[in-house]
Amino acid sequence: MNTAASNLLPKKVTEAIKSVVGVNPADLHEPEFVGNEWNYLKDCLDTGYVSSVGQYVDRFERNLESFTGAKHAIAVVNGTSALHIALILAGIESGDEVLIPALTFVATANAVTYLGATPHFVDSERQTLGIDAQKLKNYLQSISKMQGNTSINRKTGRRIRAIVPMHTFGHPSDLTGLIEVANEFNLVLVEDAAESLGSRFNGSHTGTFGKLGILSFNGNKIITTGGGGAILTSDTELAMRAKQLTTTSKIPHKWEFRHSEIAYNYRLPNINAALGCAQIENVEFKIAAKRELYIKYYEVFSKIEGVHLMREPNGSLSNYWLQTLLIDDPSLKLRDEILEETNNAGYRTRPAWNLLSDLDQFGGSPKSDLTESHQLMNRIINLPSSPKLARIVTD
Ligand SMILES: *Cc1c(COP(=O)(O)O)cnc(C)c1O
Repeated sequence: MNTAASNLLPKKVTEAIKSVVGVNPADLHEPEFVGNEWNYLKDCLDTGYVSSVGQYVDRFERNLESFTGAKHAIAVVNGTSALHIALILAGIESGDEVLIPALTFVATANAVTYLGATPHFVDSERQTLGIDAQKLKNYLQSISKMQGNTSINRKTGRRIRAIVPMHTFGHPSDLTGLIEVANEFNLVLVEDAAESLGSRFNGSHTGTFGKLGILSFNGNKIITTGGGGAILTSDTELAMRAKQLTTTSKIPHKWEFRHSEIAYNYRLPNINAALGCAQIENVEFKIAAKRELYIKYYEVFSKIEGVHLMREPNGSLSNYWLQTLLIDDPSLKLRDEILEETNNAGYRTRPAWNLLSDLDQFGGSPKSDLTESHQLMNRIINLPSSPKLARIVTD
């Protein structure tokens, strides 16, 4: 690429963002409370039901079930704890390896290590920003062997037990390819759908393809409960276990405190669930706004050479949680110049995560070739993506 042109790119990107979102500072993603949030929160305060008991938890779970089509949703205190419990219920044991993308938020890997298991990092693809299923298949064919029904890593001797795809910035991963790999190598599929509430693959909601899936309602996600998460599953027995494990395994009784096993206090408080009930009433509206924002950004960025706006993968409907710009030139330098210029102008653009395989705490973890993940990390810039930005009229 010619240097003069690439040096103009930071300015051009800044101007393009400005033309879409206006001159004011714009955050990466702001929460929005325009519905029944005050009413439901007031109800919690008026009735005194603010904590681990109350009608909003049940109601939020039923809302999530009808919105996602999952048979069961279990609300918990955050997305990380949802992952923790989902991996326990997937049968992950100490010493197992769990395949996860290197290009994901740290929670995906942390939850694996909570069980004494090891994250095994694999490469992502440009098309979906999620795990590259074809590459994973070839990789597993070269490094694993089947022992009975179990896939064993020939190098480490450990059992490869599960695969946790993550639907990056809301874009569904190649679930068809990943399910095929999971079947061939007898791996449990657990979906990290923390970022993809409202995203669908072949018409079905992300997080409902695996044995279990998880959602997050952290402050920066498409809907928020302050902090919160949920476990999704179609398996009634696993759903009951999930509820039990996340509520200290208390045996229901009028007054007695008896607990049937060591478990967790991962209950979502009623006050957070109340926020969730109000937020989910507006989720379709937010997704529509985000899809509109994509079109607005597309109109300006399609005219700029050297960058491409991330578009939902074929066969998918994305919630476009974050709008992602991919720089053609995979040099970290240009990415950082654009981040510098746009942030100085008040647009809170952000890079993707550093690859988890490069963090000290995961330095000993096995990994496949991560060429594409490295390139994506160097090429990704997330743009201001709040739903309200779609409704700003410029000119
Ligand atoms: C947000 C997020 C989570 C869960 O985060 P919490 O803050 O614990 O709710 C997990 N995985 C990914 C990919 C996420 O983006």
